[in-house]
Amino acid sequence: MAKIVVLGAGISGHTAALTLRRALNNSHEVIVVSPNRYYQWVPSNIWVGIGKMTRKNVIFELSKVYKKQKINFKRALGKTIFPEGNAENNKPYVLIEYVEEGKKGETEKVEYDYLVNATGPKLNFAATPGLGLDGYTNSVCSFDHAEHAWDNLQKSLDKMSAGEKQRFVIGVGHPKATCQGAAFEYALNVAFEINKRKLWDKAEIIWLTNEYELGDFGMGGAFVKRGGYVTSTKIFTESILSEYGISWIKRAGVTKVDQKTIHYETLEGEQKTLDYDFAMLIPGFAGAGLNAFNKAGEDITAKIFNPAGFMKVDADYTAKPYEEWKAPDWPSTYQNPDYENVFAAGIAFAPPHAISKQFTNPNGMVIAPAPPRTGMPSGVIGKVIAQNIALSIKKGEITLKHRASMTKMGAACIVSAGYGLRKGSAATLTVFPIVQDYEKYPTWGRNINYTIGEPGLAGHWLKLILHIAFMYKAKAKPFWFMIPE
Ligand SMILES: Cc1cc2nc3c(=O)[nH]c(=O)nc-3n(C[C@H](O)[C@H](O)[C@H](O)COP(=O)(O)OP(=O)(O)OC[C@H]3O[C@@H](n4cnc5c(N)ncnc54)[C@H](O)[C@@H]3O)c2cc1C
Repeated sequence: MAKIVVLGAGISGHTAALTLRRALNNSHEVIVVSPNRYYQWVPSNIWVGIGKMTRKNVIFELSKVYKKQKINFKRALGKTIFPEGNAENNKPYVLIEYVEEGKKGETEKVEYDYLVNATGPKLNFAATPGLGLDGYTNSVCSFDHAEHAWDNLQKSLDKMSAGEKQRFVIGVGHPKATCQGAAFEYALNVAFEINKRKLWDKAEIIWLTNEYELGDFGMGGAFVKRGGYVTSTKIFTESILSEYGISWIKRAGVTKVDQKTIHYETLEGEQKTLDYDFAMLIPGFAGAGLNAFNKAGEDITAKIFNPAGFMKVDADYTAKPYEEWKAPDWPSTYQNPDYENVFAAGIAFAPPHAISKQFTNPNGMVIAPAPPRTGMPSGVIGKVIAQNIALSIKKGEITLKHRASMTKMGAACIVSAGYGLRKGSAATLTVFPIVQDYEKYPTWGRNINYTIGEPGLAGHWLKLILHIAFMYKAKAKPFWFMIPE
């Protein structure tokens, strides 16, 4: 009997846990350790943030699904990994701390044969003073943040209805933040809501980003096929923003937020300020803050995790100039190089390098997006790790048959731009592969036949359908496994 512990019940961890349960009989134990009571379909938080969906639409209780699936769920935080066990205990284990009522603060040693770290990002609001709900800005990174953003957005809409002008600043709140796609989607939706209420003359919307050029999205931008011709995501993004009447500030590293003012540095090294009435800025991401010790009790956190707290996997982490990295640097099995039974999925794995070119200003500040690991690759990676673990258990030895490199995987990103079966819109962007491979695709870095950008109502319908399909799948309803990641 094998024991598999999955840390995190987000897109990658939940996919891994369900896949493991389906592949293994009940003599094997699948344990999920995650602090949240609910699963949330994060991409739809955008719609919560504009009042088009409520929390009921985007979350469900994990315990119900896990009970049915015979997955052992512990509402707790993974804290410390002992991949070699310790002096008293030969078996690898992870120390967890319960967060659920009645057990709060209690710790437990959970032994494992295989460990999947799928702890996603720590939303690092603290890295930018004044950012986030404890500060002055809004967030849509979780359903409760998005609800709060909608409350504040309504206050601004009311003020505009009463004749007051409002400035909305939407974008990223750290010089190295990623997840531009989510913020961009929120900006378009806010603009749509303002337009719908005919309050345009009272609003100014500014897209604030650390990207060197718009449309970079942390993946170095892309050339896309649009209506039969090839264009850059820079032009694609600029034209959409212009169409929605949104102006932009690019190459900006936000350093601090006050009650009324955002402070940022430019690539030229200037310190600038921007006043706002409503701001939604995505924070920088860090790893979940796990640490690790070896059998001798020595701290091996720096060996297993990178400095930002993301877990090292089968990538080439050799430091090299941006121009010299290659597609094979990217991981494909997500196995930790030091511990063969430890894997990291989704945002929790350490990427080998940035995908976007990194720019540093004269004050030494890097102003450029970190690499994103969006929903689709996160789900695929969680599945592939689970398939390899199940195979290894069946064969009695580590077998890594299934692979999923972000340099060989495509992704679709549908940025909704308004809500409604007839009035909604979306910008649909598909890229193949996610991370460029200039050796295989010397001209564009990607396969131009599968790298496509199209705006329109059809994309909005697709996004709605995907919401329904992915919630169905995550609830493990009949034939859930037939729905792809
Ligand atoms: C507003 C928004 C919109 C987005 N829209 C899209 C989109 O349209 N398309 C797309 O592809 N991607 C989108 N993304 C990105 C997508 O949501 C992420 O890529 C995806 O959620 C990453 O999955 P993950 O499993 O790595 O992390 P998460 O989904 O964040 O899950 C991490 C899990 O780990 C848990 N956890 C944290 N710390 C610990 C710990 N110490 N121990 C145990 N568990 C822990 C968390 O509670 C959570 O359950 C969006 C993101 C945001 C914020």
